[in-house]
Amino acid sequence: MKIGTYFAYWEKEWDTDFFPYISKVAKLGFDILEIAGGGLADLPDDQVLRLKEEASRCGITLTVCIGLPAKYDVSSENEEIRQAGIAYMKRLIDKTHLLGARQIGGIVYAYWPADYSKPVNKAAVREISIRSVQELADYALPKDVTLTLETVNRFEQFLFNDAAEAVQFVKDVNRENVKVMLDSFHMNIEEDSFYDAIVSTGSYLGHFHIGEPNRKVPGKGRIPWDEIGRALHDIHYDGTVVMEPFVRPGGGVGADIKVWRDLSDDASDEQLDEDIAESCRFVRKAFCG
Ligand code: MN
Repeated sequence: MKIGTYFAYWEKEWDTDFFPYISKVAKLGFDILEIAGGGLADLPDDQVLRLKEEASRCGITLTVCIGLPAKYDVSSENEEIRQAGIAYMKRLIDKTHLLGARQIGGIVYAYWPADYSKPVNKAAVREISIRSVQELADYALPKDVTLTLETVNRFEQFLFNDAAEAVQFVKDVNRENVKVMLDSFHMNIEEDSFYDAIVSTGSYLGHFHIGEPNRKVPGKGRIPWDEIGRALHDIHYDGTVVMEPFVRPGGGVGADIKVWRDLSDDASDEQLDEDIAESCRFVRKAFCG
């Protein structure tokens, strides 16, 4: 099992230079740095290759995450928007391949966050989404890229909110390079049991986001980490685990994640690093024994 973190713990904006974070997370004890697909899709090829080289130098695996904006909604009933989303995702798949990364996760099957001022037409949108994900998976397969579909809570998307719905969706997509992504932050709202959700997902699990209910670093809240570790062990999960802590308000990250207060206990930059390094050791112990 590989343990990583999302870069945005340290950042107020999604669009940033990921380069310095590669050696930083390696130094803090991680195996993976997860970067934002939004920043990667528009990065010139030479910059992408620079990230790839640095990751290889530091022994870091890179993963990519994105919640597609409404203008790139691949589940849209408006064919023009759907096509724009497909084209954008294909560009992101190309950049991910060039980066040497193997997976793109998040809301790559619809858009994020869902706009609930409009009526929800779940059945029709689900069919469009499945068709789009199939098309993207077929494009991504020869490039060695897997799509991991993030299962998020009801306030952020409606197509699937728990592991059971996510597994059914992935079964209906029926492509070997499409998997389920679970996230303990969302599971905390939607699942009866962390253990049962993970075990029932089983071999469909392709990526796992971890975080506390208030998005502090894992180990500082009330998520049952030992129970999750036991479930991952019981399904022989050997994939990627990435923490997604968000503890400081401000900027586009703070606004999108709804961080309206300081959850870092007024931490200095040094303390922020220490907190996440300690969390990395905590997760390794809980998940890998
Ligand atoms: Mn997540």
